[in-house]
Amino acid sequence: MAADKYRGVDLAVGCGDLPYYYLEYIQTVLNVSLIYVHGNHDPEQEYLSDGSIVTGPQGGINLHCKTYNANNLLMAGLEGSIRYRRGSFQYSQQEMWTNTFLHLVPRFLINKLQYGRYLDVLVTHSPPFGIHNGDDRVHIGFKSFLWLMKTFKPQYLIHGHRHIYNPAEIIETQFYETKVVNIYPYRVLDIEVPI
Ligand SMILES: [Zn+2]
Repeated sequence: MAADKYRGVDLAVGCGDLPYYYLEYIQTVLNVSLIYVHGNHDPEQEYLSDGSIVTGPQGGINLHCKTYNANNLLMAGLEGSIRYRRGSFQYSQQEMWTNTFLHLVPRFLINKLQYGRYLDVLVTHSPPFGIHNGDDRVHIGFKSFLWLMKTFKPQYLIHGHRHIYNPAEIIETQFYETKVVNIYPYRVLDIEVPI
């Protein structure tokens, strides 16, 4: 990736299923903060050449079940895909509802009090249910994301998980006030930061 082409990028966001060293490389080359959520193919631990173990890209901020204020852009994240096999970073619909209600909704209410709005960008690995998702059981999206968008009206929901090779496949969908974007393999987004 040529750094010149991406001059002016303010923030790098990883939506999962990318090697940790690659995310670290992007962060270093662009010299920006990195926030990320894990995908279902991410390892729980990655072993470095010096024998140490990391659980994510070093220097990055794991956004799962958290909110983050990036220069007044209010972000929140939910990792993982629908549960389809044993392993980490997978959730049932019910578990994702629990993540949503238990961890994010209280933070959105605090955002509203503090900043006058709930959320600007929701970062997820999986797409929402019925939007850009597949009909196979590995790629079914989450229903709680639909409710989150309807209720808290973020500008964007950005996700990965679906690897798109057919240029005719839809990768952007407007859902109420939210633009849902599949960022695989990568996208440069111009997002307006509310004043
Ligand atoms: Zn995935």
